[in-house]
Amino acid sequence: MGLVQGVCSNCGKKIRRKSSVPLIVTCDCHKFCPLCNSLMEPYKVDLDPKTYRNEDSPLWDPLSCANKSEASVNVVYICHLHSPPYFSTTQPVEVLLK
Ligand SMILES: [Zn+2]
Ligand SMILES: [Zn+2]
Repeated sequence: MGLVQGVCSNCGKKIRRKSSVPLIVTCDCHKFCPLCNSLMEPYKVDLDPKTYRNEDSPLWDPLSCANKSEASVNVVYICHLHSPPYFSTTQPVEVLLK
């Protein structure tokens, strides 16, 4: 069994795994708050349509050009240590180890 390694393009961390074939792993740096370095909680998207009813208001979006689901779909982690909470949109970074 050999070792494979790669460098995360987001945080620069070197990742090593025991493997004899190239691997793709996800770096865990997207789970950490860039402001305070704390481990963030996974953000659960609230799918209750009432939460977003304001987005259907012509006052909020007069040209109807906003992507209604974009704001909530992009948020993956949340840090509660800030006010307002920090919403992270950093996606998991895949690192090729070889
Ligand atoms: Zn990383
Ligand atoms: Zn934070």
